[in-house]
Amino acid sequence: MTTIQREPELIPLAMLNALAYCPRRFVYEFVQGEMLLNAHVVEGTLRHAAVDGDGTVWRGDVVQHRRVYVWSERLRIGGVCDVVEEMAGQLQPVEYKKGKPGRWQSDHVQLCGQALCLEERTGQVIAQGAIFYFAARRREVVEFTPELRARTEQVVADAHALVASGVLPPPVEQRAKCRECSLEPLCMPRLAEQLERWRAGGEEGG
Ligand code: SF4
Repeated sequence: MTTIQREPELIPLAMLNALAYCPRRFVYEFVQGEMLLNAHVVEGTLRHAAVDGDGTVWRGDVVQHRRVYVWSERLRIGGVCDVVEEMAGQLQPVEYKKGKPGRWQSDHVQLCGQALCLEERTGQVIAQGAIFYFAARRREVVEFTPELRARTEQVVADAHALVASGVLPPPVEQRAKCRECSLEPLCMPRLAEQLERWRAGGEEGG
């Protein structure tokens, strides 16, 4: 039987987060469909389930639309916003995360991807969004600056290129990321680098 490999119509917004964190992780999760469950992954899923729930609720002057599906035909990305808040007609996406604010800002890329989709769907400029971190009990406002928009569009372009090539990138240089990565037992970044050095040495030696 012949299997026809096609690039998917849309890259999921959550996968932009994975790629902004580590291109190798993106290929494992999205291209190869690998996922390792650990306590952090399960907790994140449960936390999301706690905020899930369709429909619209009013909180004072703010209307919260929950689980809003958004997409961009231009960028070929799509996914679900946990919440889209509306205040005086102005929209902003709000994402819920189980942990604390990370230093790598990959969550910001995912949120900006949501904003780019919302802008395409509504024609409205989305100036900012927010991320609520359960562990820190803190809501962080994220401005969609030109720099963040450019970074997000570059991540989208990289995602499509990686899907098309199917190549597994090398491990990231920031080893602190690997210590926090649920895929570390599968990825084995130290061993992968060692094997690459042996391979390169062998080729040089003829
Ligand atoms: S262990 Fe490190 S290199 Fe491997 S997928 Fe995770 S972050 Fe990337």
